[in-house]
Amino acid sequence: MIITNKYNLPQVIVDFAKDDGYSAGKSNISVTTLLNSPRIVQLQKKHWNEIESDVSKRFFMILGTSIHYMMEKNAPKNVISEERIHTHFNGWDISGAIDSQQVEEDGVILSDYKTTSAWAVMNDKPDWERQLNLYAWLVEREKKLPVKKLQIVAVIRDWKQREVGKEGYPPAPMAVIDIKMWSSQEREAFMSERLNEHAEADTSAMLGSELSKCTPEEQWRTKDTFAVMKKAGVRALRVFDTKDEAEEFAAGTSNVVVARPGYARRCHEYCDVSKFCQQFKDENEIL
Ligand code: SF4
Repeated sequence: MIITNKYNLPQVIVDFAKDDGYSAGKSNISVTTLLNSPRIVQLQKKHWNEIESDVSKRFFMILGTSIHYMMEKNAPKNVISEERIHTHFNGWDISGAIDSQQVEEDGVILSDYKTTSAWAVMNDKPDWERQLNLYAWLVEREKKLPVKKLQIVAVIRDWKQREVGKEGYPPAPMAVIDIKMWSSQEREAFMSERLNEHAEADTSAMLGSELSKCTPEEQWRTKDTFAVMKKAGVRALRVFDTKDEAEEFAAGTSNVVVARPGYARRCHEYCDVSKFCQQFKDENEIL
């Protein structure tokens, strides 16, 4: 990967960004890669030496890494920090680096540190639940210790005092969020499903055939909506999830229904392989 520095940020930040400390160890797949879109993973493998990323865009990742260092350095005695656990399953070597394992007499509390937005803390994040449940699966399988609790320790990078009091808004810039525990059968079934998807993508890449598409969830795509507007108006009178509902609302008036296609935020703003992605080109009519 080529790290650029368009805004002339200090060299120490550039060096830190180049050495983000990430490694999947000796495993052939990590939990974070497993949870990623197989299409992105394959495009990253194929184009790794051509991918450009500006250090300014990696700033929140750098911030997250520094928070991990701080948590590790100050961890109490019964907390194991940043341990990478390996296992062999369905022909794969799988690993996961767990931020924090707090070992108590009746089980282990697993925590993952996230530097994130207030919006993320206020809304469901299925990926957090998946990641922590796969870590729990690794701990119970390899260490034979029961996991009793899963939690996210969120550092809220855009927290604002003036928003406190609004419904659901976190009262402090850090929050501990309990994560739903799955049964061991659910964890194992989900692990098998993800491995199959990545195995299929490996085969497609090897054969040079088209990769399966990213799902709307993987693209961070917002829903399509339908706005009812005054003719030549700028603001919507109302916005509906379906065309039928919008047409019913507009019926008998001179108002018009305007389709607002969902926006694939990851593709447009965050995906570092978008310029190599045929799906992105097709969906945006790029030649
Ligand atoms: S650009 Fe969008 S569709 Fe293509 S790999 Fe990235 S997230 Fe997936």
